[in-house]
Amino acid sequence: MSDLRVRFAPSPTGYLHIGGARTALFNYLLAKKESGIFVLRIEDTDVARSTQESVDAILNAMTWLGLAYDEGPIYQSDRFDLYKEKVQQLLHEGKAYRCYCTAEELDAKREKARQEGRKPKYDGTCRNRTDQPDTPFVVRFKLPAAEEETTFVDRIKGSISFRHEELDDLIIQRTDGTPTYNLVVVIDDAEMGINLIIRGDDHINNTPRQILLYKALGYSVPEFAHVPMILGADKKRLSKRHGATSVMAYQEMGYLPEALINYLVRLGWSFGDEEIFSMADLIEKFSLDNVGRSAGVFNQEKLLWLNSHYIKTGDPDRLAELLKPFLEQKKIEFEDGPNLVDVVKSLQERSATLLEMAAGATFYFVDPVEYEEKAKKKFLIAEQAELFKTILEKLSGCDTFVIAQLELTFAEIMAETELKFGKVAQPLRVALTGGVPSPGIYEVLQVLGKERSLQRIEQAIMAIV
Ligand code: GLU
Repeated sequence: MSDLRVRFAPSPTGYLHIGGARTALFNYLLAKKESGIFVLRIEDTDVARSTQESVDAILNAMTWLGLAYDEGPIYQSDRFDLYKEKVQQLLHEGKAYRCYCTAEELDAKREKARQEGRKPKYDGTCRNRTDQPDTPFVVRFKLPAAEEETTFVDRIKGSISFRHEELDDLIIQRTDGTPTYNLVVVIDDAEMGINLIIRGDDHINNTPRQILLYKALGYSVPEFAHVPMILGADKKRLSKRHGATSVMAYQEMGYLPEALINYLVRLGWSFGDEEIFSMADLIEKFSLDNVGRSAGVFNQEKLLWLNSHYIKTGDPDRLAELLKPFLEQKKIEFEDGPNLVDVVKSLQERSATLLEMAAGATFYFVDPVEYEEKAKKKFLIAEQAELFKTILEKLSGCDTFVIAQLELTFAEIMAETELKFGKVAQPLRVALTGGVPSPGIYEVLQVLGKERSLQRIEQAIMAIV
């Protein structure tokens, strides 16, 4: 076992986003590959915006994707005492101070800085204050003056430096006594022994502040790997405008978790020109060395292509289980219908999502068959009655409804009626399916089975007026 400890630290203020899922995946894969530990930490210090519903949504999405964590979930809201203690420590050591500036005063300072063409940074008014008035205060971290810049070597982006003159005295505790993100993330990552932080590069500007806090608190600084953002096709940050961004929305649309995993990993990571990766492959092959520096562009068609690949090659028994909720949603009673696994097998080649598969499966389960108007007009007519009767008679004599046998029976029908395959198959398809797009006629007969098929042909004969 290596000593690698990584974490995923979502804020429960909404569903699990595609970008968050990819960050979680990279952490998971590296932990598995190196036999390290993957920690899940729920960053819920923003009490007003955090909800149990979001926590549940995140946990569900991780379970669905198969991203199991080794430790957690650890909730920051359970750790306020620890954060308070650390704020006291910094105050006590003179590394932080109480700031009594009011919101109005700060606004005025910012406005003045703006007018004078300076950056709107806090000017340090309360830095050396010794009185403790009985008014609300925040606690600020004193930007250490000794060094001019902070540099770190990012495992994805390389060496990055920030000049301290760009920074100011960061608020680490709000007036209501709650600690802020940059402080708690440092305390938790350090106390939980996290030694590599893999996260989205929207946090890169926080990193120098966090490094200064690690040092001030006497912790060793971990390594960082900032993963580039995911963009929409228009090269703007991925948002709802580009389509669904919630992981679970993809489940609802009938995507398989392995397709989403495969898709997400390739958004930013590559392994030669390979495209198809199982989770086991990924655990073996993933490394930060092959994570690109530039943003990935979300491509819905590629995701759909991967999904149809996994549906085509998936285990029919498992797919049948996954299909059930989609059928239920359409109020299709499948329990007494043809065997669901056989239905799935007949549709795997033709369905890009489970939702499509459910739509394609409908005709198997609906009796009496509902005919499409056009198909009915064209085929359920007096001139076809003879043909239907011949088919009925021949198929009645066919004892096993398997493709090889059905082919022979069809050959007989074609010989007897002197009709080509299409002329027999088209009307029969209407009788069996109502006229919707469907698998090949032999497959449909085989899946429906003899009894149902004959019943449907009889129904078609009765429908002829
Ligand atoms: N809770 C932060 C977020 O959801 C993550 C912070 C981090 O990974 O350092 O953006």
